[in-house]
Amino acid sequence: MTRESQTVAASRAHRAPVMFLQIATEFASLGSVIPPSQPIRLAAEDKLEALRRIDKGRPWSSLDDQLYCTICKRVISGRQIEVVGGTNGLRALHLKCSTPDCLSTPADWILPVKSDTVREIDIFFRDNGA
Ligand SMILES: [Zn+2]
Repeated sequence: MTRESQTVAASRAHRAPVMFLQIATEFASLGSVIPPSQPIRLAAEDKLEALRRIDKGRPWSSLDDQLYCTICKRVISGRQIEVVGGTNGLRALHLKCSTPDCLSTPADWILPVKSDTVREIDIFFRDNGA
């Protein structure tokens, strides 16, 4: 009787470290699967297409369309914006300000020419305010 319970306790004590080891191995393999994001060189047509797909809030009629980055306080054009992300189609891509170390997202970019935007916002508020 006493010898049997001792054997069970011993086998449980041996099992625990093995489980920890398995978890550690899983984390290690997950970390190595994620690829580092890097800027992608795209042809002008493809880049314009990427801008339209990722930044849906703006029309993007050409790569010369300009935006004002509210984080680094600079005007950037579609040509300067970097397309960053995976190579598995456009869905995984995201946009990056051309200024080094600027961590802005498209939500931080506004149109530098304000006349049209202000009018749109004015109409938007008037319609909803009534
Ligand atoms: Zn910026």
